[in-house]
Amino acid sequence: MMSVRNFHKRMILPSLFLAALIIIPFAAPLITADDPVKIAVRYRLAAPDLEHWLGRDEFGRDRLARVLYGGQVSLTVAFVATTIACIIGTFFGLVGAYFRGPSEFVTSRLSDIVLCFPPILLALLVVTLFGPGSVTLVAVLSVLYFPTFARITFSEALRVTSLDFVEASRALGTPSYRIVLGTVLPNIAGPLSVQYSLTAAAAITIESGLSFLGLGVVPPAPSWGQMIRGARQFMNQDPLGIMIPCAALVLTIFAINFFCDRLRDTLDPKGASGSSMDEVSKPKAQADAPTIKDPDVVAVINKLRLETAHFGTPAVIEDVSLILRANQCTALVGESGSGKSLSSLALMGLLPGAIRQVGGTLQLRRKSDEVVDLGFLDARTLEDIRGNDIAMIFQEPMTSLNPIHKISDQMIEAITAHRPMSRSDARAHAIALLKRVGMNDAERRIDSYPDQMSGGMRQRVMIGMALSCEPRLLIADEPTTALDVTIQAEIIELLQTLRQDQGNGLSLLFISHNLGVVADIADRVAVMYSGLIVEEGPAAQILRDPHHPYTRALIESMPSSHEELNSARGDRLPAISGTPPLPSARPSGCTFRDRCPIALPACADIRPALYPSADGERAVRCLRAPEAPAGVMNHQTEAA
Ligand code: SF4
Repeated sequence: MMSVRNFHKRMILPSLFLAALIIIPFAAPLITADDPVKIAVRYRLAAPDLEHWLGRDEFGRDRLARVLYGGQVSLTVAFVATTIACIIGTFFGLVGAYFRGPSEFVTSRLSDIVLCFPPILLALLVVTLFGPGSVTLVAVLSVLYFPTFARITFSEALRVTSLDFVEASRALGTPSYRIVLGTVLPNIAGPLSVQYSLTAAAAITIESGLSFLGLGVVPPAPSWGQMIRGARQFMNQDPLGIMIPCAALVLTIFAINFFCDRLRDTLDPKGASGSSMDEVSKPKAQADAPTIKDPDVVAVINKLRLETAHFGTPAVIEDVSLILRANQCTALVGESGSGKSLSSLALMGLLPGAIRQVGGTLQLRRKSDEVVDLGFLDARTLEDIRGNDIAMIFQEPMTSLNPIHKISDQMIEAITAHRPMSRSDARAHAIALLKRVGMNDAERRIDSYPDQMSGGMRQRVMIGMALSCEPRLLIADEPTTALDVTIQAEIIELLQTLRQDQGNGLSLLFISHNLGVVADIADRVAVMYSGLIVEEGPAAQILRDPHHPYTRALIESMPSSHEELNSARGDRLPAISGTPPLPSARPSGCTFRDRCPIALPACADIRPALYPSADGERAVRCLRAPEAPAGVMNHQTEAA
């Protein structure tokens, strides 16, 4: 979360600017003694003087008084309407997302119906029916804007309710209203605050527009829209009359948008530009963190720890350490929810908004040989690194490729994002990449849309795009899961070939739950369980002779035709009993002990460390592994 001190620093200027523009209209009685509605026709269009700093309007009324009191009306209408819309929309969005079923239907259909009407037309219709006036305006604007709040709340709440800590709260029997108000709502407050500011700015514009048309605030009460309407006829002889309310409008909307931009950047450090990243969300630098000294090391993940942004929830990733070398494939394996994908997203700087890195380091050697810590970079540098130094291919190429753009456009965009070159050169480069990843007839196929290609071809396109800037590290997150077996083999072979071909020495981080595939491609294997690496070492050794009971169970449960695996497990395919624990329900001691067939009583008291083998080649997190120091059960210092 944002530290108060840092929050203030980032927000101080926009907050002061906005506060001034809101306070000044409401301090009107202290600034001017003139009545904003008092007519003095003989002074009409009088120029500014010492008593009337901004002159007088077409009815001889003091312009300063009118612009200040008009601001009161415009701001009150806009903020009251926005607040009502926010409360109604948030209520519908939360109910729809949390309870789903009929409430979801009502929420989305109701919003759809309102959103079908062009805003200004709907406003005109209601004002025409019910007559102009501030109350009508507030009602119209509330109806206009609540669907937007409902939509945003709905989508954000859906995301949050799918996270483990909400599931855990449900499992613990926490009442629904407490989960919604105490857990879901605080986690979506950021986007809602930003939407509130944007809506308030839009409401001021609509209020002024309606008042300009004579359908808003009823004269003689002042409003900025009315001032523009009145001054319009005299703009040639008295341009000041139209400039003053326009300037008030522009300044106020600018102040709100400025505030809104800063607020968004502050609440979402990933979106912030510049280097003012949230200090608390940064991991603490660790004095004992290994650095990339060996030139063939591309990346080092050291003691990575990730937590949810929700106060008091346990770590989703407790301890992940990996060394990724050039020309090497490291496989990260484990069941769903073990933390494989989160670890890789941390490397990409793409963690979901509700997850933050609170410990460890993520060092990367860039192509320039500069070593950076990915956890400490600003958004712009991370953008430069993504695609250029690190690239990622995902499980489902259909959802990773934009269906409405041709492959050529998408590849050219990916290439030119990091390499300044003409479109024709980028297209030629894209065709060469497609040929490199084994695409037949690349010159013709590059102009296809994603849905005109098979799953295997789409994945080849994704791999080609990922390699477009010759990254040093390629992360493949279950890249063959969505493909049939024949195509899987082709893609694995392609990745193997590319890894060996890559001139810079590509390091491949291959994420999978399929040990059969891992056996074909990986040099080293790291097995993850419940946010921890439980075994790590050379792939051949680990697959042939696993030392951790979880690795052994994974191998035994894999239906694979791979010879080595078959010989390791015999003919039986037993399933691993039980399910991995949620972060909030991890047992004391060894996190695997509830499912471990060889657990001892001591396993409930001691949280094993990652014990290295004598030659340093492999490491295991198990008290009964050969690597565990003798007598560890009696002398364990790392108690749970
Ligand atoms: S430490 Fe104990 S419970 Fe954990 S894997 Fe080893 S034997 Fe099983």
